[in-house]
Amino acid sequence: MKKFVVVFIIIFAFQACKKVPMTDRRQVSFIPNSQLLPLSFTSYNDMMNQTTASSNREWTSWVRNSGERISKAVEIYLKENGNERVLKGFDWEFNLIADPTVNAFCMPGGKIAFYEGIMPICQSELGTAVVMGHEIAHAIANHGGERMSQGLIQQLGAVSLSAATRNQPETTKNILFTAYGVGSNFGVMMPFSRSHESEADELGLYFMALAGYDPREAPKFWDRMAANSGGGAPPEFLSTHPSHRTRISDLNNAMPKAMEYYNRSRK
Ligand SMILES: [Zn+2]
Repeated sequence: MKKFVVVFIIIFAFQACKKVPMTDRRQVSFIPNSQLLPLSFTSYNDMMNQTTASSNREWTSWVRNSGERISKAVEIYLKENGNERVLKGFDWEFNLIADPTVNAFCMPGGKIAFYEGIMPICQSELGTAVVMGHEIAHAIANHGGERMSQGLIQQLGAVSLSAATRNQPETTKNILFTAYGVGSNFGVMMPFSRSHESEADELGLYFMALAGYDPREAPKFWDRMAANSGGGAPPEFLSTHPSHRTRISDLNNAMPKAMEYYNRSRK
């Protein structure tokens, strides 16, 4: 019996342990995409039905264009490097919600939304690409899956996602939204951890560069974000962060590699 359990744990741990593309960090995530993506897609649709789409055409085009360009470039890059399994079942979507909240998020499977409140800080399609790269990075690195695994265990115990969805749909949806930093109510949002944020910053920089957006915009964007936030920092972007100075110096450390991607993308 004991032997069986040990073998089971080893197999389970092996399957649950994956590597994040580009940074090669090992991570543990228990939730298969076959269960996660259907829940994500219906929750995202519900949310879009309950919110109003922005009527600002220029901002909407920044979100759509940067989303399409970066997601395509990331797909090509992952395929070239034998990592396309990460994208299995993805169905990209890029929306802008009419709401003054300063936030953006990416749900599992590439379901992205920006709130209008962040657009004046983005200032342009290039600035939007900084946030888009960061959000796509959270998705590609499966940060939400890691957090969702923790949230499920903490709140519902060791149940499978499909059982949780069936038996406690509202709680499960809330765990999902919380894990992915979705929403306009900062009070209930759990921000991503520092290490997730730093990883999303680094990958986001590479992703925007792969798509031909000048990565040198990123430190400028985060300067504007820091200046804007004053006392009430939006959790997805600032509250768990290492100091703003650390963020900028981390970005500058990753800049030479990002510039290589950027220069290659323009050939
Ligand atoms: Zn983030």
